[in-house]
Amino acid sequence: MDAVVVRQVSKSFGGGRRALSRVDLTIREGAIHGLLGPNGAGKTTLIATMVGLTAPDEGRVEVCGLDVGSHLHRVQMLVNMVRGFSGVLEKVTARELLVYYAHLYDAPLSRVEEVLCRTGLWERRDQQVALFSSGWRQRFFIAKGLINRPRVLFLDEPTVGLDVDAALAVRDLVREINREGCTILLTTHYMREAEDLCSTIALIAEGRIVAEGSAAELKDLVRDPGQPEPTL
Ligand code: ATP
Repeated sequence: MDAVVVRQVSKSFGGGRRALSRVDLTIREGAIHGLLGPNGAGKTTLIATMVGLTAPDEGRVEVCGLDVGSHLHRVQMLVNMVRGFSGVLEKVTARELLVYYAHLYDAPLSRVEEVLCRTGLWERRDQQVALFSSGWRQRFFIAKGLINRPRVLFLDEPTVGLDVDAALAVRDLVREINREGCTILLTTHYMREAEDLCSTIALIAEGRIVAEGSAAELKDLVRDPGQPEPTL
């Protein structure tokens, strides 16, 4: 079954700037699907259309068989999104923040303990998230993203700004979450990260999907001069 189906989605912002042009994308259930592209390519905008934060100008998106436009609330209960370097509330502990998010989703408090354990945060549960290192902060955001047991988790540049060890730890966590049954769409600038994690990778440039396939199939394209060099 397909977890997400995007058909002919276009989106423009003010000034006529086209962020997405007739995008088609299918994410198979159980996959870690990569979306690789440079700054401004349209990755975040595409995720926003898939989670229902942005309505496309044209085209349609289905998540778990539900049309996002007409079943927004149901879709938002089935998905979650994690952005790199999201802001956090000051002077609030990891557990307190997760309890707050659990309330938002009507999730039981036992889920807070589960996600704290799952992401390795249990020992740090009573520490302020604002004081975490960037690697632990990113784990916290992933914990937040798991609070509603999403069927599909959208990870927008989950390792951006992390040192190599923290990035590798986040990648391991992503793999484990996927093995436990969560479908993942991951955006990245790094081919090596996509190659390491993703069964299928879509290349996006200037709002268009320009190629899609396995890492082996895409390697030569991505290593062309002018493409961003992986830094991990
Ligand atoms: P990055 O890797 O830098 O996060 P991206 O691939 O996620 O980039 P988007 O953030 O989706 O790219 O942006 C795609 C294009 O749409 C860019 O030209 C951006 O300036 C524009 N854009 C995105 N959101 C808005 C907005 N709310 N208003 C106006 N333009 C926007």
